[in-house]
Order: sequence, then C-alpha cells, then structure tokens
Amino acid sequence: MPTSQEISTSSKHSSKPTSPPPPPQFWYCCSCRYGPMTIILTPACVHCNDHYRCGNCKLE
Ligand SMILES: [Zn+2]
Ligand SMILES: [Zn+2]
Repeated sequence: MPTSQEISTSSKHSSKPTSPPPPPQFWYCCSCRYGPMTIILTPACVHCNDHYRCGNCKLE
C-alpha cells in the first residue's frame, strides 16, 4: 500500500507593499506646548497667538 505524501512548501505570498509613513498632520507649540493643532489649518499657535510654527515645534 503505497503512501504518497505531497510536501507543500509554504512560500511567502503575503508581501505587503511598503508604503512611506504619512506626513505629520499635527503640531505642538514649543513655547507653551499647546496642541495638537492642525498644521494646515493652524499655522500659528492659538494660545500664544503670535508664535508661528517653527523648527522646534513638535510634529506628529
Ligand atoms: Zn504656544
Ligand atoms: Zn515653535
């Protein structure tokens, strides 16, 4: 009684396309740490009122 076994090699077929992470949409004021605020809609801190988003402000 011959026994035939088929060895099925599981290949990696679930390869997800690597997409770059989305750009930050929110930022926190570096002066008063208020946030999050929308980068597009809120270019300046609504709490400081005169602090525009600078390089020190945290993006998220
Ligand atoms: Zn602020
Ligand atoms: Zn700042």
